[in-house]
Amino acid sequence: MTVQESQLESDRANELQRLVVPAIELIIEQIRDTDSGKRSLGPRHEDPKSLYSTLDLDKSLEKGLRDRESAPEEVLAVVKNILDTSVNTWHPGFLDKLYASTNPIGVLSDIVLSVLNTNSHVFTVSPALTVIERKVAQKYAALFGFTGPTAGGLTFSGGSWSNITSLHMARSILFPETKLDGNLHKFAIYTSVHSHYSVEKAAILLGLGARSVFKVPVDKKGRMDVKKLDDIIEKSKINGYTPLYVNATAGTTVFGSFDPFEEVATVAKKHHIWFHIDGSWGGNTIFSSKRNGLLRGSHLADSITSNPHKMLGVPTTCSFLLVPNDRVFTQANSLSAPYLFHNNEDDSDNFDLANGTMGCGRRGDALKFYLGWLYYGTAGYRDRVDHAYAMADYFVNKGSATPGFTIVSDTPVQCLQVCFYYAPGNKPLTGQQRTHVTRTIATRLHSSGEFLVDYAPNPDDAATGQDNGEFFRVVFNSPIVSSRVVDQLVHKVVELGSTIDL
Ligand SMILES: *Cc1c(COP(=O)(O)O)cnc(C)c1O
Repeated sequence: MTVQESQLESDRANELQRLVVPAIELIIEQIRDTDSGKRSLGPRHEDPKSLYSTLDLDKSLEKGLRDRESAPEEVLAVVKNILDTSVNTWHPGFLDKLYASTNPIGVLSDIVLSVLNTNSHVFTVSPALTVIERKVAQKYAALFGFTGPTAGGLTFSGGSWSNITSLHMARSILFPETKLDGNLHKFAIYTSVHSHYSVEKAAILLGLGARSVFKVPVDKKGRMDVKKLDDIIEKSKINGYTPLYVNATAGTTVFGSFDPFEEVATVAKKHHIWFHIDGSWGGNTIFSSKRNGLLRGSHLADSITSNPHKMLGVPTTCSFLLVPNDRVFTQANSLSAPYLFHNNEDDSDNFDLANGTMGCGRRGDALKFYLGWLYYGTAGYRDRVDHAYAMADYFVNKGSATPGFTIVSDTPVQCLQVCFYYAPGNKPLTGQQRTHVTRTIATRLHSSGEFLVDYAPNPDDAATGQDNGEFFRVVFNSPIVSSRVVDQLVHKVVELGSTIDL
């Protein structure tokens, strides 16, 4: 048999049908069961290592490595086992972390990406996905007030990489000689004590070092104290630093605070430094009809990270770095690589998207956001975000009216997470007891298969050296969360709390 014959005989269309159709039917059945209350959040796994045997990994790999293929039915059984041992994010009780389940259009968009298997690095092989990325980034950027003729953006593999790229672009654009000679100055960057760790990681990765990150204190609402920012910049200059970049956050990871962007912009301008907004979490509040004012001043930024994969239910990963002038991508990132990029004038219109990144091959993540936005419309995304805020507000009201709950978040909530303590029987508790209560209830909620919620130490404790104990952090970020689900959560916390011995 020649090679050509063997490929034809493999009959890919029928093979696809045998593998994919039953898998899709299984998935649809599971989502139906989730919606009717028959399917839980999935089991809680105490010991990661026990999953090696639950998933039969040693044996199944042995099979795969044996000289025998696996039949479609065998693979399907493995897929079912993976679904059954994973967290069911489609369950309304999934209130952990800052993302929610995806949705039917999200699943379709991921299937299309897999089938195309497009590498969005150069236009020749990625004609449609490239122009979709350019156009959707331009429309997304316009929401934040970047409306000039060259406004736009690119996707990166997560908010952290969008943030890291923004710092690198700041250095390359403000100090172009660094592209050839490296860190010629002792650069300083500024960010609030509540900001995401990716800012510090960016400083490490780019050779600035973690010590060059100056952490600015926050006010009572968790927002950067801009007066102190100015003081810290002045002081760092006296100490021989060259101010480079300030990161302000839209939706901090623990508390969900929004820094005052207009004031940060004024200070950034005064010191001629790059002004980045990390909106990985709260950037999509721009879609809200009631809370979008929290992003006032976003048009003054030099770059903004925003993740459709968090607040909008677009499949992970989908993160954009948006800029008022998209020529900065190639100016900061391109090399002469004529074997790959046939059009590498640094300031020309660029359709070979990898030329504007530090990577090469890239997945066309923008397609997922494009199809979601097309399907739901701007009004659908507005309703989604407004509903999520309404549920967070509802929880705050319900909790405040329930004995033993102490809401720690600023209210009305700035972003979609609510941080709170619960004291069974409304008893006064020490920090250690609070941590014990929080962890015990969170673990039991998870074991019940009904709710998955997160908890965190108070980030202010690290600064003050106090121990107020860990609090719950519950994220209301999904259109399937209703006031009934919130009522059940409050009820369940009280019920589980009553069984704890203190
Ligand atoms: C989640 C988050 C990030 C990181 O985004 P990833 O997509 O997880 O890399 C950065 N900043 C903030 C404020 C976040 O909440």
